[in-house]
Amino acid sequence: MSYEAVIGLECHVQLATSSKMFCGCRADYAGAAPNTHVCPICLGMPGVLPVINRKAIEYTLLTGLALHADIPSATKFDRKNYPYPDLVKGYQISQYDMPLVKGGFLEITVGSEATARRIGLERVHLEEDTGKLTHVPGGSLIDFNRSGVPLMEMVSQPDLRTPTEARAYLQKLRAILRTLGVSDADMEKGQLRCDVNVSLRPIGATELGTKVEIKNLNSFRSVQRALEYEIGRQTAALERGERITQETRGWLEDRAVTVSQRTKEEAHDYRYFPEPDLPPMFVEAAWLSDLRARLPELPDARAARYRGAFGLGAYDAEQLSTDLSAASLFEQTVAAGADAKKAANWIQNDVARLPSNGRLEPRHLAELIALVDRGTLGSSAARQLLPEVFRTGKAPTALVEELGLAQVSDTAELEAAVRSVVDANPAAVADYRAGKATAINFLKGQVMKQTRSKANPAVAEELLRKLLG
Ligand SMILES: [Zn+2]
Repeated sequence: MSYEAVIGLECHVQLATSSKMFCGCRADYAGAAPNTHVCPICLGMPGVLPVINRKAIEYTLLTGLALHADIPSATKFDRKNYPYPDLVKGYQISQYDMPLVKGGFLEITVGSEATARRIGLERVHLEEDTGKLTHVPGGSLIDFNRSGVPLMEMVSQPDLRTPTEARAYLQKLRAILRTLGVSDADMEKGQLRCDVNVSLRPIGATELGTKVEIKNLNSFRSVQRALEYEIGRQTAALERGERITQETRGWLEDRAVTVSQRTKEEAHDYRYFPEPDLPPMFVEAAWLSDLRARLPELPDARAARYRGAFGLGAYDAEQLSTDLSAASLFEQTVAAGADAKKAANWIQNDVARLPSNGRLEPRHLAELIALVDRGTLGSSAARQLLPEVFRTGKAPTALVEELGLAQVSDTAELEAAVRSVVDANPAAVADYRAGKATAINFLKGQVMKQTRSKANPAVAEELLRKLLG
């Protein structure tokens, strides 16, 4: 029997506000000494009162608008009882039955077919992040710098079908959040964290299978690998006639397996109730329309513009528009005079392979493309030159001169190289003369090698043909 996977994602996004969710402590705690971004409120001292961070509400509403969601006019915070030492007051302020954002969707495009698929969202709500526990021999250390940082929880519908789609969903989500400026959504830094749930059912079935949750995935790659492993594990179990246990599993990156952490029976009852220290909130229509007017060009609109104005294919447009730094380099390179399709090609292939700690000047990339267009530089020599341009920050034209890389199209100059290659490769010459047309490619390759990629390939081929008769 063949099975299909039904996948849903629950993401936690740290918002890039300057202060925490319910107090004035600074939210940018990265690199700070433990417990230096704390105050009586985020340390849960008795008698303190939380104050709602307006910016965090605004960022969540902007996210809802970008995801085509409903923004209910009334909303409230609830208390989630949570007896765990990483939240010192013994509960988390979260949202239960009246989230800030309901419904909505985002579109993903997977593979080269470029048919966009709509992935539904169930809700987006706001809560506070927890502190960070570090377990050491003999005990645990706790740092409350992260405690109280605004955290947006985004729950998708179980609309995803493959690990690749799950990855595309996360990439699109990150692109939207970054475009809005509400979060850097860097998974490696814990600004975007992800739990996935996955069940299997026979293809064609409408009923859902038993769901397994995998917690705390912290890279795109681990989301994809954990899902691939889990789908394989469940398929094998079903084929052996076993039943899937509803449980929470953890992903062990180094062993590349998921392991059982807790079963349904041990699940917590959080006993939610309305947070008595905070008033309910009403979102005014005027505020909402003001936020709507502030929405920037989102990745889908950007992709449509790349298809329309620059003539890019759907796949290239999607890839470029979801990577903000690539998109910015692309637009500036085109503005510097480069052909859009060529610029897109360079950025997605050779530029993508450059180390990330640096910056390629858009005008230098445009210049490199122009040098190839004019025939000054062969395309493989250009590819070799790019890392030098990146490393030194020098203009390509200057480097071509400095390194003597200019393409040789002069017949007289190339003839000597062609002649020596023909003399040195009698077997290939004989093959060619015997009618094996492809032998010329080998000989041309030898000419390129001998001239350190400087020979104009077209001129070299023409000379070879002439010489070989
Ligand atoms: Zn505080």
